[in-house]
Amino acid sequence: MEKTLIILKPDALQRRLLGKIISRFEEKGFQIIGLKMIQISETMARQHYAEHESKDFFEPLVKYTTSAPVIVMVLKGKNIVEIARKMMGATFGFRAEPGTIRGDYAVSNRFNLIHGSDSSAAAEREIAAFFHKGELFEYQPADFSWIYDLSTGNII
Ligand code: UDP
Ligand code: MG
Repeated sequence: MEKTLIILKPDALQRRLLGKIISRFEEKGFQIIGLKMIQISETMARQHYAEHESKDFFEPLVKYTTSAPVIVMVLKGKNIVEIARKMMGATFGFRAEPGTIRGDYAVSNRFNLIHGSDSSAAAEREIAAFFHKGELFEYQPADFSWIYDLSTGNII
């Protein structure tokens, strides 16, 4: 099982889309193992998006990221990093396919509602940056054996 860090960015909160977006991940069958509302500080934003430091959109991106509270959550599931990125859609809202979160609700290059880790290694790093150990929960989802076929001893 893999974990990923999702951020519902300031526009998701301001546009009252938090519930709709969280529902998509719940309905897909992913497990929420951590969730909280925070205000991302400038330092955290700069660190989170450090790979984009040299880009012309870096400063406005930091401003956007810190402009209102966000929801951060840790989701768990098989191949979740790849699947969550697919569910989010392409970075630019206008380019994202209908049926994806960005494709259905975003048109902007920047205000695109959601962040999701782009690799398992990035997920580990980002989860550690946003969550303390005690804020993540281990529990058995009641429907686990209906989300996955466990009858062979593997998670299929
Ligand atoms: N972004 C932007 N202008 C650009 C490209 C990206 O403002 O030309 C913002 C956008 O909010 C995006 C974030 O910077 O989500 C990080 O960019 P990245 O390429 O990592 O996209 P993501 O991984 O979020 O799809
Ligand atoms: Mg990225």
